[in-house]
Amino acid sequence: MGWLREWRRARILKHAKLDPALWRDTVARYEFIDVLSAPELARLEELTLLFMHEKSIHGAGGMQVRDDVRTAISAQAALVVLNLGLDYYRGWVEVIVYPDEFVAEYDYTDEAGVVHHVAEPMSGESWEHGPVILSWADAEKAGRGHVYNVVIHEFAHKLDMLNGAANGFPPLHADMVRADWASAFSRAYEDFARRIERDEMLPIDDYAAESPAEFFAVTSEVFFESPREMLKLYPDVYAQLREFYRQDPAARLDRADAALARGRAA
Ligand SMILES: [Zn+2]
Repeated sequence: MGWLREWRRARILKHAKLDPALWRDTVARYEFIDVLSAPELARLEELTLLFMHEKSIHGAGGMQVRDDVRTAISAQAALVVLNLGLDYYRGWVEVIVYPDEFVAEYDYTDEAGVVHHVAEPMSGESWEHGPVILSWADAEKAGRGHVYNVVIHEFAHKLDMLNGAANGFPPLHADMVRADWASAFSRAYEDFARRIERDEMLPIDDYAAESPAEFFAVTSEVFFESPREMLKLYPDVYAQLREFYRQDPAARLDRADAALARGRAA
């Protein structure tokens, strides 16, 4: 079915277009998108448009999904797969947006065989083969200096789920080494847990210590939003994420800084 999908996408790109002012605002809103090169931005715009066509983004709990919200979510989702392609988001269609934290209710059975019913406030959630659910109040905090990006977080979980339940081990590319991924992540995860216990201030949210799946999702947020911090703290994890996402956001920042310096000198 590959050719059919490609043909459909080519048709969408030929006939649909994002509102230029809306697109400019979206790019300017996120400094980690604003630093993309011109060809990267052009590709991101196409992927954003296709994402909006292939996924259904709708509100719940009284949320009206305005065009700027739809575009902001789609652009960040597209950034994650900029060099991977939209097929990495295959197998599901729905993005549900709540105005604020939503309550996720579920049952689980503990080791003693007792079934618990849990109702937890959530800022985001991804279901295997199911929807991505986001709180816009939380998603809105992205790109404002603090490294917290629930949109990138949930879409990273989606990639992790391409090969089964989220476990911090997404399907790696053929040229990547599984043992390298495992050793980089497990060493960083153990180190991170130790530092959290010592109450160290780190550029990575404590929530990353929850599980290897959360560690992958949270480090993905930092990788895209504050790549230099990620590179400095855990260079091996950075290298694995760079291989996996096929992007080098720290190098991108360096290029943008150099261009800025040249502009100032001129
Ligand atoms: Zn998570």
